[in-house]
Amino acid sequence: MHVHSVVAEQSRLRRFLLFIFARYIEVPLLHLCYYLLRGKGRWLGKRSWFRFVAAFALARPFGYLGDSAKPMPYDEVLAMIDGLDGSIAVGPCRCRIGHKACSHPLETDIVCRSGFRAWMKAFPKDYREISKEEAKDIVTQCHSRGMFHMVFIHCPVNLYNEYAICNCCMCGCVPYIINRELTQLNYPLIDGFFLAHTDGEKCKACAKCVEVCPFTARRLRDGRSWAEENCFGCGLCSYACPEKAITMTRLRDPLAPRDHHGNHPAHYHPGLYRQHPPYREE
Ligand code: SF4
Ligand code: SF4
Repeated sequence: MHVHSVVAEQSRLRRFLLFIFARYIEVPLLHLCYYLLRGKGRWLGKRSWFRFVAAFALARPFGYLGDSAKPMPYDEVLAMIDGLDGSIAVGPCRCRIGHKACSHPLETDIVCRSGFRAWMKAFPKDYREISKEEAKDIVTQCHSRGMFHMVFIHCPVNLYNEYAICNCCMCGCVPYIINRELTQLNYPLIDGFFLAHTDGEKCKACAKCVEVCPFTARRLRDGRSWAEENCFGCGLCSYACPEKAITMTRLRDPLAPRDHHGNHPAHYHPGLYRQHPPYREE
């Protein structure tokens, strides 16, 4: 609770913690997690006793006190970039430079707000300031390659300290891999801002949406597609559907107004990771 009482994104403590995370913790931690879950250390990472220890010693502190992410549809990411105040920079994806095991584009780590200051200070040679148009171009190129987007949040129980926009893939995004391997309980991604709704009348059961869903949430049943497991709202299925049968619905505004210190209004109480019970189309 101590850490979570620090709500101001611009506070000195938050900026200092984010800088320490950026400079000394992030890449080694991501590299270690990839090594254990998908790399040469997989033999160890598959043992149930080890997964139990890793869930409590690595994933939970990382996810509950460090940072977590919310998947966001492509159009919403573009709108978020348009609405950003302050400078934006791009640098090499922290996951891909850690494990070097993925061929997706490298210069895709877009940092903003407190993230801009932290990563520019930590890695001045690796990050460069870019315009909003350039940031949107990077997101668009990644979108056209079938990648999904996650907005990272520092100290995630306070949901509004977004500091980075990541362009993710199933083979290389380590937070995604941790979530899939060690479960939502141990490394929670933030769901609930957007949900996919399928129009059964339009659906032709081609299964394209099933193939692209990174969260294995979709199934074909009764001659049509359904979001049957929990939908994280990444939007990939809606862009892949040739019949335009899937629409993304926003459940609540993820960008509450802030004052010039970056604080949200005093009356506002951000939710925890789940905004709703697991979502299934019936
Ligand atoms: S059903 Fe899958 S692909 Fe579609 S928005 Fe939800 S998580 Fe993303
Ligand atoms: S991609 Fe569209 S048409 Fe194909 S199964 Fe999914 S919802 Fe139906």
